[in-house]
Amino acid sequence: MNIIPISLPTPFYIGPVNVYLIKEDPITLIDTGPKMKETIAALHAGLRAERLSVKDIRRIILTHAHEDHCGLARSLRDEARDAEVFVHNWETGHRASRLEHEENLRLLKSAGVPDTEIESMRRLYDDVRQYADSLEDNYCRELVDGAELEFNTGALRVIHTPGHTPGSCSFVREADRTVIAGDCILKRITPNPVMSPDPIDPTRRFRSLAEYLVSLARVRSFAPTLVYGGHGQPVHDFEELFNRYLKMIRQRQAAALNVIPKSGATAWEVSRAMFPDTDDVHRFLAVSEAVAHLDYAESEGKLTVEISDGHEVYRKP
Ligand SMILES: [Zn+2]
Ligand SMILES: [Zn+2]
Repeated sequence: MNIIPISLPTPFYIGPVNVYLIKEDPITLIDTGPKMKETIAALHAGLRAERLSVKDIRRIILTHAHEDHCGLARSLRDEARDAEVFVHNWETGHRASRLEHEENLRLLKSAGVPDTEIESMRRLYDDVRQYADSLEDNYCRELVDGAELEFNTGALRVIHTPGHTPGSCSFVREADRTVIAGDCILKRITPNPVMSPDPIDPTRRFRSLAEYLVSLARVRSFAPTLVYGGHGQPVHDFEELFNRYLKMIRQRQAAALNVIPKSGATAWEVSRAMFPDTDDVHRFLAVSEAVAHLDYAESEGKLTVEISDGHEVYRKP
């Protein structure tokens, strides 16, 4: 199976994004890059190098609905004359701004984020939205865990790998154990477990880190020989990465527990103590990171949580 990585520019701190052209019948693109002039030009050049154009794309598959991955889905679909777009139905970001959701505001408030910070996060996020067109639900086909995406030369199996986002999916080619993993697996950094409402019960917070650990183990069960991530170089030694990730997660949990005073702390306070130099959108990512580790520590009995003044306050028992 001819899997061709194409690196595309993004306006984001993370740098370029990898999208994957599956040059088989039907011609398929996994992720699209953000909606930005330079990205469109680079995508056209990448397709041209394979003697293809956007019109040849029959299928667009989204690993998840972050702007750097899904931004061009709608315009590519239109230009390719109604190519099919696939996304997991737990992935709500393609529909509307995540931070505009009532549930998300509630999550930020209960994490102890001050109102002025929530307001500036919302403004920053409004700015990010320009890099993606929203996709209406009825334009998307659902990615179903375990299903096969068929090509004339073989298939990719859909693996639901929640954690970074609730609806993140990876794609496994079992014949040679190649995995296309989006932001589930990145060679140099552990992916941020982005704070989200639980798709099953939106009044609750998605237990992103617990879900993520299960996803990592699930990917491992395929004994991958090559993992293509959403950013950076491919991973050839998944075992090394798996152990390094587990170690980093343990260290970060210890760091989170370490900054909690006797009187307790909110996730916001923990994030400011752990990542004091962050600003802009990184404050949202920092509080996501903190909350994920605190939730996980609580599930392990290392913390208790109680509501005080509308905020969740974590304490060591
Ligand atoms: Zn992402
Ligand atoms: Zn990404």
